[in-house]
Amino acid sequence: MEKNSVLDQLKALDEQRAKLLDGAKGEALEQAEKAVVELNELGFDYRLVEGPQTRSRRAAQTDGTGEVRRQQRDIPCPVCHFKTQPLHNGRAHRTQQPKKPFTAEELKERGLERVESQPQSTVEQTAGSNRNVS
Ligand SMILES: [Zn+2]
Repeated sequence: MEKNSVLDQLKALDEQRAKLLDGAKGEALEQAEKAVVELNELGFDYRLVEGPQTRSRRAAQTDGTGEVRRQQRDIPCPVCHFKTQPLHNGRAHRTQQPKKPFTAEELKERGLERVESQPQSTVEQTAGSNRNVS
């Protein structure tokens, strides 16, 4: 029986604690909200966010794999040196050993289409060809 009463007391304390905490939280929150409103009125863009601390940028970028998740950038693949539709990057070549540009066939396999990034002055290969018909 005594054990129960201790538990009851603890429970009551817990409730009190929660109440106190709630009250303190409400007060602090009110202050924080006021501060945020003030900041916004000053022209800053602040928000009060509840939840776990914002993860560091690096942590946010990794999917827990430790590997940095990169945004697909609108640049030519560093391996192929050309862009594709949809874009791919060097990571698409991970399985290759050694890495080499995708062939037309490989691009097709992956559903990629080669896109000329810029109208490069493609010099037509005439030099060395045996097209000198006389
Ligand atoms: Zn590539």
